[in-house]
Amino acid sequence: MSDSHPEIRESVRALCQDFPGEYWRALDRERAYPSEFVKALTDAGFLAVLIPEEYGGSGLGLSEAAAILGEIHKSGGNGGACHAQIYMMGTVLRHGSDEQKNEILPKIAAGELRLQAFGVTEPTSGTDTSRIRTTAERDGDDYIINGQKVWTSRAEHSDLMLVLARTQPRDEGEKPHDGMSVFIIDMRDAKDRGLTIKPLRAMINHATTEVFFDDLRVPARNLVGEEGKGFRYLLDGLNAERILIAAEAIGDARWFIAKATAYAGERRVFDRPIGENQGIQFPIARAHVRTEAADLMVEKAIGLFDAGQPCGAEANMAKLLAADASWEAADMCLQTHGGFGFAEEYDIERKFRETRLFQVAPISTNLILSYIAEHVLGLPRSF
Ligand SMILES: Cc1cc2nc3c(=O)[nH]c(=O)nc-3n(C[C@H](O)[C@H](O)[C@H](O)COP(=O)(O)OP(=O)(O)OC[C@H]3O[C@@H](n4cnc5c(N)ncnc54)[C@H](O)[C@@H]3O)c2cc1C
Repeated sequence: MSDSHPEIRESVRALCQDFPGEYWRALDRERAYPSEFVKALTDAGFLAVLIPEEYGGSGLGLSEAAAILGEIHKSGGNGGACHAQIYMMGTVLRHGSDEQKNEILPKIAAGELRLQAFGVTEPTSGTDTSRIRTTAERDGDDYIINGQKVWTSRAEHSDLMLVLARTQPRDEGEKPHDGMSVFIIDMRDAKDRGLTIKPLRAMINHATTEVFFDDLRVPARNLVGEEGKGFRYLLDGLNAERILIAAEAIGDARWFIAKATAYAGERRVFDRPIGENQGIQFPIARAHVRTEAADLMVEKAIGLFDAGQPCGAEANMAKLLAADASWEAADMCLQTHGGFGFAEEYDIERKFRETRLFQVAPISTNLILSYIAEHVLGLPRSF
């Protein structure tokens, strides 16, 4: 990832220069959405990178998408406001009907339509997605959706939302994950007819929300793929998401390392730069080593994904290693800055909070370890 696609990286860097630390800081204080930044990325075509050319996108691969998001984070920004616009359409692309694809994808590519909200997580189900309680019941040409989602990010800044709902009770399918379906919800007209979105103020500025469905009617043609196969469709998109989030974490780690290196060279204490002390140097060097090692796994996962090869293990390992590398780099950077690390104007405390998310979402570290233990190493199932 580090040196891949230098032209793309250069243009992303140039774009990010218009959105410096002050911009992100002010938004963070207000928990406001970076509309201008997202518009600039959209206008530059970066958010349509994965959409095939026949639908008006760039038709590029995950490698280019990772370069874009990694560079945003390395520049001190945050792709969380819009990264899902890049990869979420994959569910429609892979499993949607021709009608859905022709209707939605060209508009996303043209920047006329936003599809960047996905409601999976619910307050009571936690990581055990099979226990979601949101239901979709068929009624003539419609489905009627009832239930609640939590942590649905960007719902207020998206036109469409994908939602996972039960179309069959959990105990009636062959497996617990059978019987869930994915629907496209057009939030522009659903808001007055049973859809309520409430912002959820959080530790970071992530435009995340709670979403309530109260007898919301959705046309049956908005079902994606086949009824009952929604969980499989969700899984199909997870590798791309994990790899791109890993690229963001690598970008964060590089930002922290650059920031710490610069400060260690200029901050003088006891009449010499603090960076002359190995107690300061070694944590920076270690963070660099861990980041570059993690990046190799990100690269490996990208290579497999773009070649159409299975990459579940690599995508998960990349996400875990990159999240750990960014968190270690964040802690090191804060420590290197001493008290000033806590001052808003250095941006470190903001990035510190932001990069902490990767240990929990979109999948927590424990659940990755559990996947590796069971599915890669063949250890007994624990749940
Ligand atoms: C800012 C933010 C944005 C988000 N955006 C979205 C979004 O857009 N759409 C969406 O659907 N969701 C979103 N999420 C939800 C996110 O995916 C979940 O928070 C995450 O998957 C963890 O689920 P949970 O919070 O329910 O934790 P829980 O499942 O309740 O788990 C709590 C803790 O217990 C651990 N744990 C649980 N079971 C086990 C086990 N068997 N063994 C070991 N440890 C275990 C977990 O690792 C975790 O650390 C977002 C979350 C945040 C914080």
